Amino acid sequence: MGRTVVVLGGGISGLAASYHLSRAPCPPKVVLVEASERLGGWIRSVRGPGGAIFELGPRGIRPAGALGARTLLLVSELGLDSEVLPVRGDHPAAKNRFLYVGGALHALPSGLRGLFRPSPPFSKPLFWAGLRELTAPRGKDPDETVHSFAQRRLGPEVASLAMDSLCRGVFAGNSRELSVRSCFPSLFQAERTHRSVLLGLLLGAGQSPQPDSALISQARAERWSQWSLRGGLETLPQALNTHLTSRGVRILRGQPVCGLSLQADRRWKVSLGDSSLDADHVISAVPASVLGKLLPAEAAPLARALSAITAVSVAVVNLQYRGARLPVQGFGHLVPSSEDPGVLGIVYDSVAFPEQDGSPPGLRVTVMLGGSWLQTLEARGAVFSQELLQQQAQEAAATQLGLKEPPSHCLVHLHKNCIPQYTLGHWQKLEAATQFLASQRLPLTLAGASYEGVAVNDCIESGRQAAARVLGSEPDS
Ligand SMILES: Cc1cc2nc3c(=O)[nH]c(=O)nc-3n(C[C@H](O)[C@H](O)[C@H](O)COP(=O)(O)OP(=O)(O)OC[C@H]3O[C@@H](n4cnc5c(N)ncnc54)[C@H](O)[C@@H]3O)c2cc1C
Repeated sequence: MGRTVVVLGGGISGLAASYHLSRAPCPPKVVLVEASERLGGWIRSVRGPGGAIFELGPRGIRPAGALGARTLLLVSELGLDSEVLPVRGDHPAAKNRFLYVGGALHALPSGLRGLFRPSPPFSKPLFWAGLRELTAPRGKDPDETVHSFAQRRLGPEVASLAMDSLCRGVFAGNSRELSVRSCFPSLFQAERTHRSVLLGLLLGAGQSPQPDSALISQARAERWSQWSLRGGLETLPQALNTHLTSRGVRILRGQPVCGLSLQADRRWKVSLGDSSLDADHVISAVPASVLGKLLPAEAAPLARALSAITAVSVAVVNLQYRGARLPVQGFGHLVPSSEDPGVLGIVYDSVAFPEQDGSPPGLRVTVMLGGSWLQTLEARGAVFSQELLQQQAQEAAATQLGLKEPPSHCLVHLHKNCIPQYTLGHWQKLEAATQFLASQRLPLTLAGASYEGVAVNDCIESGRQAAARVLGSEPDS
């Protein structure tokens, strides 16, 4: 009888793991178990008036690097090439990004020449921060917060304005708590290997082998900065669902896993409340803290390491305006915590993907709320009303972008614990988990945003690697 692999969680990581398992020459029997009635996890696209697309989670995927290329390969394998909406390198959404500081929008310098020009809100051209970086000594600690790393190498202004904002934009997190080793491994490694991040990035670029396809070549030739899909990014999990079903993968929805126990024959019993599944191997693609609660008592050390990986909440407010114009054209802007503790940034969705504006077209922007403002309210047990979040977002759009008229359409979603936080020492939690799994020879493999990257590309890669490990073939690096 063939092996049975049960995959926990039908977000993009669990779907990717199931996909790669199902394509093996001798695939095991695969059962994907998802708690909710929908697949895709945080990837969710909603259609609004006139067919406009509103992304409640991710809205753009980066094509760069080996992982970006692999995701494009997956898109082609699923037959979605004609659905791809690229943002080409010469487009304003590729070239222009802004910081909102001191009550004004400031364009971040782009290109080499930009480094030599005065670039407010920074007091000096960024060339000086680069020079400091090239001469700063190598760090000695096994890990460091992003803030401390950036301050040491690039100076206090870059740390408190640029890196603080970047951490809010990517992780909705605090640069004074997040780990540079785990959040920005390429920067950490570049310093380790070449003493300087700039040197390391320059010398290390383009070394990893990348897959190739017509779509990947096009993305390279046109220097895409990101891409989406015509009907929204949720098209990707939907296409995976269709593919998996055609390959005979059993997909159980609306079935929260409520416990895992190891039987005498070292097979798992996956408890679903009223029923259960037997599995030779489990791939967990649910958040680490969720898995921590599902594990049996004999895996307590693993459960402890996983439960220590926390996540933060983000309120996503999609706004659409009729007849309105933005003061600038670009991808969007980020807001450092010193400027506003609650507004993480605003994405100008219509600039990057006007094809999704609906008919008649209306200007779409998304305000992301989070940070210490949301955390403090959550800690106090505050009840978040839709009105409060909408008001906060509309005020930000009015103050920061001059969008003073009421929006014609608005969606408000508070995503609880949606972005894992790789805080200082995250690598030690991963090491503890890996060591426990290896020493106990548990038939369990971890995948998902909780571990080694939160971007959609990272999650897809984590699913691919988990499948390769289960199939007994180490994935290409
Ligand atoms: C607001 C927001 C904006 C983002 N923007 C971007 C972006 O622009 N670009 C980008 O690359 N990335 C972005 N990301 C990150 C990226 O979308 C996520 O990290 C990624 O989608 C996570 O996928 P996952 O499968 O690992 O986890 P999830 O999406 O969390 O999936 C886990 C699944 O497990 C299920 N589950 C939980 N408990 C159980 C249980 N007990 N039994 C069974 N199933 C269970 C859940 O229902 C869920 O479907 C964004 C994330 C958010 C929240």
